[in-house]
Order: sequence, then C-alpha cells, then structure tokens
Amino acid sequence: MPHGAYLHIPFCLSKCSYCDFFSVIGEEESIPAYTEAICKEIRLYADRELAVDTIFFGGGTPSYIPAADLGRILDTLRDCFAIANDAEVTCETNPETVDPAKLSEFLALGINRLSLGVQSFHNHELQQMGRAHDAGRAVQCFKEAREAGFTNVSMDLISALPEMSLQSWQDNLERLVELQPDHLSAYTLEYHPGTKFERERTLGLLKPAQEFLERDMYLDTIRFLEGHGYGHYEISNFAKPGFECRHNLKYWRHEPYLAFGTSAHGFDGRRRYWNHRSLKRYLDDIEKGVRPIVESETLDESQIQLEQLMLGMRTRIGIEWDRALPSEVPANLFSQQGGRVSLTANGFVLYEAVCAAFAGEL
Ligand code: SF4
Repeated sequence: MPHGAYLHIPFCLSKCSYCDFFSVIGEEESIPAYTEAICKEIRLYADRELAVDTIFFGGGTPSYIPAADLGRILDTLRDCFAIANDAEVTCETNPETVDPAKLSEFLALGINRLSLGVQSFHNHELQQMGRAHDAGRAVQCFKEAREAGFTNVSMDLISALPEMSLQSWQDNLERLVELQPDHLSAYTLEYHPGTKFERERTLGLLKPAQEFLERDMYLDTIRFLEGHGYGHYEISNFAKPGFECRHNLKYWRHEPYLAFGTSAHGFDGRRRYWNHRSLKRYLDDIEKGVRPIVESETLDESQIQLEQLMLGMRTRIGIEWDRALPSEVPANLFSQQGGRVSLTANGFVLYEAVCAAFAGEL
C-alpha cells in the first residue's frame, strides 16, 4: 500500500496562544543544519521499492524556511522512495512567511497543495491567538496563491475562542466562503497543557466558551458549509468534491506513513514510532547516524481494532460494523447503512462518549 510521508519543520515566527505542537522560536540559524539532518534521516529509511503518494510538510511553520530547503528535502525523498507522479504534496503555510515569488517557487518544486493557517478574519481574534499575520494579509495571501497557480488551497479556522460570539464565528465562515478555498479545517479551540491559553484559563484570566455555544458553532459550521458545497468528510474537515486531504485520510484509515523531523510520528500498519521533541537531541542522533526515535509501540490486535474504531468514526463514512449496537447510544447520534456505522452531526458533538460505547462492543 502506498505510504504517506510527513515532514515536521519546527521553526516558527512566534508562539501562538493555543499551540502545543513542537516548535522553536528564534532558532533560525539552525535551519541549514536541520535541513541537512532531515535529508540524512530520510536516507536512513531509503527504500526505492516503497511507494509514497502523499507528502505533507507540517510544523511548526514549514513555509518559514527557504523554498530551496524544502526543495532539497523533496529531492531527497524522490531519490529514496518511489514517489507517485500524481502525489499530493502539501505545505502548511503561514501568510506572513510567503510572498508571490516564494509561492511560485513552491509550485515549481512540486508543492501542489497549500494549507493556510488563517484561523480568523478578525484582527482582535488573531491578536488574541498571538498570530503573526492580520486578516488583510491572510486574504491577500490566498489571492497570491491562486494567482501563482495553486488549484488546491485549504484554510484553517478556530472556533469557540474566549469571548467569541456566534455572530463573529458565522462572519468568519461567510468571509471564508466568499474566497472559495477548496478545503477547510474548522477546529474547536482546545486548552492544551503548557499553552498560554491554558495558563490564562487556570488563572481565571480568560473564560472559555460555554459548552452550548461550542456545540452551536460546530453544528452551524456543518449546516453552513454543507449548504455552500463543502462536504463534511471528517469531524473538523470539509472539502469541495475531490479535494479531501489524501494525506490526512491515511491517518484516519489507519494506513501507513513515514515520518521525518522532530516530534514526527510514523506508522507501518502495526508499529508506531515517534521522534525526539527536542531540536538538540534530534540533531545529535542524526549526527551519530542513528534514527532519532524516542519511543515506539507495536499494537496488538485489540489495540488495532480500537484505533480503527476511534479513527474511522472521525470520518463521515465511518467503519464496518457487524456487531451488536450499543444500546445506550441514542439512535439520532449515528446512522447504519450497508454494514457500516457512522456518526451524525449530533454524534460528532459527543464523539468520545459514543466511541467509548461502541468500543465496549468490540
Ligand atoms: S504557527 Fe502553527 S506551529 Fe507555530 S506556534 Fe503557531 S500554531 Fe503552533
């Protein structure tokens, strides 16, 4: 089965208030060494027989590093694996880190999908999140991407920010639809340990959105985007027909993927491994010529079943199911068709509880 390849580029302009991804600020002088290291790491896994049909530069902010560095990494992947001619190649892009020339370079390198971290079209919300760009720059960046020739552009938005009203969220959705990106990831804000938002919440300096408002925003998002031609294909993801993210679908389908760079997680269908969440330890291991894995686990049959349930239930097509239905789950939270079960919009709101009930029948 063709693999995906994930590449983590940890450099960021500044730290966003909600973010718990591994990222480093003010370490730009390490970019050349990091590019070198990630290319060496790729070579440690080289297998010309291994087919790869999706590549995803995530982070961190991969668009922050020079396009030539992304090009070197792509060339190394092409040397080491059998990359499909029609591979989906995504680069997460922060609007503040690119200009028309850099976007054209991305396209020339073979990057054919941009995932723009827009997050909001309101400047006060962007400031609250500690984002490096303003709303005008995000819109301009989207237009520059189209002018450069990108035909597959995704945007990320975050709902349920502290003090955010339902009206403000709807306004964000309307402004998004005016631009007509091909794909949208709409995440509900989560408070992760170690983030600025979580610290402020603990100190009582901010008030998280109430649960009913979170739910209303979520259900409105589905109604509104489906009404505007976007298919809701995963809990937080929407796409025009044919623009579902092929790389992320591999995660939800429990398919294999390679992973390179700090904190990256790889999976071969049974064994999962993850790399150091430290630039220094990662670079040290590569220097020694060893794979920079911090830990790995091999899943047994029951863990595989549970993961397939949890991941598959995130998607609108759900999972194959030939067992008894959990009696405690109300019928309006899931649908059953052709030997499959999947969650309804209301079911997604209660995703964890419903999955736990189904897991009880495994
Ligand atoms: S740009 Fe992305 S990775 Fe970097 S701090 Fe912000 S959310 Fe996190």
